[in-house]
Amino acid sequence: MSTTARIIGNIYRAQGNNNKAIEYYKESLSFARETGGKLYEIKSLTTLAGILIGIDTNEAITLLKRSLALSTEIDDKLHMLYAYREIRIAEKLRGRIEESLRYAEEEIALTDIIQNEDKLALEKAHLHSHKMEIELETLREKEKRHQLELEKKNNQIEIAAQARVISELELSKNKYASIALAFLLAACLAIVLLVYRSFIASKKHNEELDYLAARDPLTNCYNRRILFEVMNRDFLDLPQIEEYCILMVDIDHFKSVNDTYGHSIGDTVLCGVAELLQANIRKSDSVARFGGEEFCIILPNTTQEQAIRIAEAIRIKVEKATFDDIPVTCGFGVSSIKFKARTPSELIEQADLALYEAKSLGRNQVALWDASLEEFKLYRSE
Ligand code: GH3
Ligand code: MG
Ligand code: MG
Repeated sequence: MSTTARIIGNIYRAQGNNNKAIEYYKESLSFARETGGKLYEIKSLTTLAGILIGIDTNEAITLLKRSLALSTEIDDKLHMLYAYREIRIAEKLRGRIEESLRYAEEEIALTDIIQNEDKLALEKAHLHSHKMEIELETLREKEKRHQLELEKKNNQIEIAAQARVISELELSKNKYASIALAFLLAACLAIVLLVYRSFIASKKHNEELDYLAARDPLTNCYNRRILFEVMNRDFLDLPQIEEYCILMVDIDHFKSVNDTYGHSIGDTVLCGVAELLQANIRKSDSVARFGGEEFCIILPNTTQEQAIRIAEAIRIKVEKATFDDIPVTCGFGVSSIKFKARTPSELIEQADLALYEAKSLGRNQVALWDASLEEFKLYRSE
């Protein structure tokens, strides 16, 4: 128990807690005294005295002297030597130099005796103390290492915490970046939609404009410009064109319709005839308003016989129809590419001559161009 109390005291002393150390050293001394173990008492006395030197030097000297007496009693030279040395130091501390010198002499004398008598024991003691020092040093090193380990762990924990904070920040940064990106995409999409819609609208508008620019506003047939555009384009392949016909159509006595029913009703009749013409041609054919109450029908890939049949069929349909209850008839002039026209105007001229022939024959007629009709040219222009 005395040893244990002393060891506890040593631990406190090593930690720098001198008060606790003194408390346990005193415990150790009283246990030693109770059991009567002199060696334990000597050890406790010297240990307690060792810590009290400098704190309560007088008390330390008293304890050391008691230790010296006991070690002398049991002839424990090593502890005697220790007591001499400690008393010497303590007396010097108190300023009692003479006393210190006296103990120094005692110490030297005893050292000689020990060296002579029991050199081995001294060596052993030295070795033991050396070993203890090494163990103590090792313990301190261990504690230092533990301290370092602890610091390292703390640093790791700190680093991990900072990494977590950084990743949280990154996460929120990414979140905001994603939201911003989504907004940007939505804005881009809206712009693309707007551009697309305005593109579609302007395309539709342009198509409407193109349609209007190509049509006669009253009858909705192609106008003269488109008629010549189409024919000029067709005539580019002229030597290769096998069959190609046109019809010139003119409403008979249309002036009297206007005169009888008025210009507005005349317009209605004009539109009705135009509608009938458009409804009775093939997909590949085109109807254009040539001027006044005169129309031109382009019949691509059509022989003169087919053209005559088409004209005849339409003639009958007009004849049978009424427009606002007003019956009208039409004259038809037919010409074919086979008649060697070299330009659209020539072909139209031929059809027009044939139409003149149809009118001459009594109207409501279909007439085919013939070379003999050329003589009417002069007559017609008069
Ligand atoms: P023909 O049988 O010889 O063809 O006799 P026509 O009366 O039809 O021929 P004419 O050339 O003497 O008269 C054509 C008339 O067509 C004259 C003109 O007032 C009329 N006309 C021309 N364009 C229009 C139009 O856009 N609307 C109306 N209502 N009449 C028109
Ligand atoms: Mg006419
Ligand atoms: Mg006319």
